[in-house]
Parts: sequence; C-alpha cells; structure tokens
Amino acid sequence: LSASWHDDLNSMATPASPLSAPHEVTEEALLRGIEHEEFVMYYQPKVSCDTGALAGFEALVRWQCPGKGIVMPDSFIPLAERTGLIAPLTEQIISQSLDWLSASFANASPLLSINLSAKSLNHLDIADHFADHCAHYDILPSRLILEVTETCAMTDATVALAALTRLRLKGFNLSIDDFGVGYSSLAQLARLPFSELKIDKMFVSSASNSKESRMIVKGIVGLAHGLGLRVTAEGVEDECTLDFLRDVECDLAQGYFIGKPMDTAAVTSWMALTYGT
Ligand code: C2E
Ligand code: CA
Ligand code: CA
Ligand code: CA
Repeated sequence: LSASWHDDLNSMATPASPLSAPHEVTEEALLRGIEHEEFVMYYQPKVSCDTGALAGFEALVRWQCPGKGIVMPDSFIPLAERTGLIAPLTEQIISQSLDWLSASFANASPLLSINLSAKSLNHLDIADHFADHCAHYDILPSRLILEVTETCAMTDATVALAALTRLRLKGFNLSIDDFGVGYSSLAQLARLPFSELKIDKMFVSSASNSKESRMIVKGIVGLAHGLGLRVTAEGVEDECTLDFLRDVECDLAQGYFIGKPMDTAAVTSWMALTYGT
C-alpha cells in the first residue's frame, strides 16, 4: 500500500466526533438496545439555496449505548439490515420522528425526511403501515419524504417499484438518496415515482476545490430538473459551495455549514438563533 492511499483510507474511517469511534456491534447488543429503546433521532435542517428559508429536516438515528456514548448509524444499520432487526428499529425511528414533528410543528410547513432501508421495500404492505403511523400522529403523508438510496431502488427493481408506487399513491414524497455514486440509467430514473433527488455529498463537499465535481453537480441539477425533480445537495460545508449551488439553480442545501444533525433541544436553539422563532 502506498502511504497516501493508506492515509486516505484512515481518514475515511476516522469519524468526525471522538464519540462516534467505530467498534464491534453484536446482534445481541443491538437487540438489547432496541428492547431498551436506546435510539434517539437527530434532525438536520434543509434550506432553500436561494432564500435560506427552512424547507425541512432529515431524521438521522443515533444509538445512545450505555458505557459507549453515541454510536453512529454506519456502525449498526448494516448489521440491523443483515439480521432483520431493521424492522423493529425502523418502527422506533418512525414513532419518534412523527411524535417530534407533530409536537414541534403541528401544522407548519417543514417536511421531514426519513431514511428507508432497502429491506423495507421488500414488503408491499409498507405503504399501509406508514399511512397508519401518520394517522396515529395526525400527520399528512405529504409532510414526509422517504429517502431511498439510488442503489437500493435499482436492485430488485420490480418489488421496489411496486412498493414505491403504493407509497406515492398514499401521498408520501419520495427522494432518491446518494445520487451519483450508483449506476442508474436515465430511463430507470424517469420510471420511478420520485419527487426529489439528493446529490451525494461526495460531489458536493469537493465542489469548492474540484472543477470536475462542479461539472457533475451542475449536470445532475440540469438532469433532475429536466425530469421534474427537486434537487437537494447534501454535504454543504462552506459558503462558497452554497454560492455555487445557488448559481447552478440547485433548490435545497443541507450540510454542516447550514446546521449539523441536532438533538431536539439543539434544534429548538438553532431555530431561535437562525429564524428568531
Ligand atoms: P445519508 O442518508 O446519506 O445521511 C447523510 C449523512 O451525511 C449523515 O451521516 C449526516 O450526518 C452526514 N452529513 C450531513 N451534513 C454533512 C456535511 O456537511 N459533511 C459531511 N461530510 N457529512 C455530512 P450519519 O448521520 O452518520 O448517517 C449515515 C448513514 O446512515 C445515512 O446516510 C443513512 O444511510 C444511514 N441512516 C441514518 N439514519 C438512518 C435511519 O434512521 N434509518 C436508516 N435506514 N438509515 C439511516
Ligand atoms: Ca439520507
Ligand atoms: Ca445521502
Ligand atoms: Ca450515504
């Protein structure tokens, strides 16, 4: 291994926060965590590139594991998917998120984005199930955006397409996540019932120092608009990237420069500080 390649690998594996150090997570520990309801949702704001107005939040799960601090989703979501524990975990994620949305923004406009695992799309009854959750919290499905990764929407496309279509018919908004790192064709994209496309942070966070990334971002925005999709850029880490996104007419921006994922108390302070509400 060359030293620089090795360094790259290390920096990719190194989490931003010391609390999020990766460690072995076992199925037993995960099951216990679910039983003890140790998962908490953080919320990251999404704003209009043009006006800075609040458009919504993305719900991101964290595990408050006793003795270990906060464990980040990349260390347990893949295991949860492999073991089937993603189903009960997603139940807790949805209840907590909808509870927060209805308590904090009873009938106000911010939309809430929730990440869906590929596994969930194998169940055709997911649409009815999600609609039941919404009814319970008195939230219209149109206030939610369900994010599905590009790769997951494309593998096993027939079942996924049926599940996505049912969700769309119930009124849920659908978003194609991590766009640009997968392999979907324009034809496939156009066929799926999405209303939003999220440009992967890989291209966005490198836009400030890479002409190539800027060309890719600009191209994706044009393509998405041509297909009638709203575009969110994730991973916006500085002001010049936000300026660039405005120039290429990207709709929404999300990233550390705007606001980090926050617990509910921090969201309240952030709202007060940013919008005076
Ligand atoms: P994702 O859906 O692509 O989420 C975006 C990730 O980018 C989040 O990492 C977020 O904290 C991070 N991020 C936000 N702004 C910036 C930025 O400006 N720069 C950089 N470098 N990163 C930024 P997080 O919270 O660690 O989540 C990682 C992944 O875990 C998510 O990727 C998603 O695939 C999965 N995940 C998170 N929460 C859930 C959940 O509730 N359910 C499911 N099924 N998956 C989840
Ligand atoms: Ca996402
Ligand atoms: Ca993403
Ligand atoms: Ca991702």
